[in-house]
Amino acid sequence: MSDIAKNLERVKENIEKALSNSKNSFDDINLVAVAKNATEKQIEKIWELGVKDIGENKVQKTLPQMKSLSHLDIKWHFVGHLQTNKVKYIIDNIHLIHSLERHSLANELNKRAKALGITLNTLVQVNIALEETKFGLHPDEVLNFVDEVLENYSNLNVKGLMTIAPYLEDAENLRPYFYEMRQIFEEVREKFDFNDDEFDTLSMGMTNDYHIALEEGANMIRIGTALFK
Ligand SMILES: *Cc1c(COP(=O)(O)O)cnc(C)c1O
Repeated sequence: MSDIAKNLERVKENIEKALSNSKNSFDDINLVAVAKNATEKQIEKIWELGVKDIGENKVQKTLPQMKSLSHLDIKWHFVGHLQTNKVKYIIDNIHLIHSLERHSLANELNKRAKALGITLNTLVQVNIALEETKFGLHPDEVLNFVDEVLENYSNLNVKGLMTIAPYLEDAENLRPYFYEMRQIFEEVREKFDFNDDEFDTLSMGMTNDYHIALEEGANMIRIGTALFK
């Protein structure tokens, strides 16, 4: 087995283990392989192993990859901070934008999506630990922001929430943040009376903390290091 195959096996085992304490089952979980430090060869390898959801955080790296890997049925996820002036380069190839956190970006995404005649899937990014170094909405702003996106941007589909937790040596200490994300997620679902297949995605958990995020109800995890190291 290649290293990536072994890594993937281990991640899958850890997912199974974490889910024994969760309401979700394995089939509910969407694994996004974050390839920001991976080569095209490695992306191709993990695709061959069945992981079709690939995450990137830089437009400059994503663009040439999208071209040279266009023969593969990859679902591209954009997980990084997205500058408004870069939207036009990636919008027609992106399966899900994880980092919607401001009106100017919503406006630009909506305008470009409308011009292409598509509905764009987005997650609203929340700065759950109120870190100055991180992007994302204050937890108290989420309901209003979702409301305004639903009102004003008919070519955006708000699929759920995303957060990047702080890095802590002991991920157990992040549990309250993931718990709070889950509460906000459920609150939004209730407030807007979403159906089961709408606003159904809670994207949280990375290499250091996905086991805790899964226990607290994440159904999309974004793993880089543990897969491509
Ligand atoms: C890099 C990155 C990840 C993956 O992080 P790892 O710790 O390598 O698993 C997930 N989400 C975002 C937004 C990232 O930038």
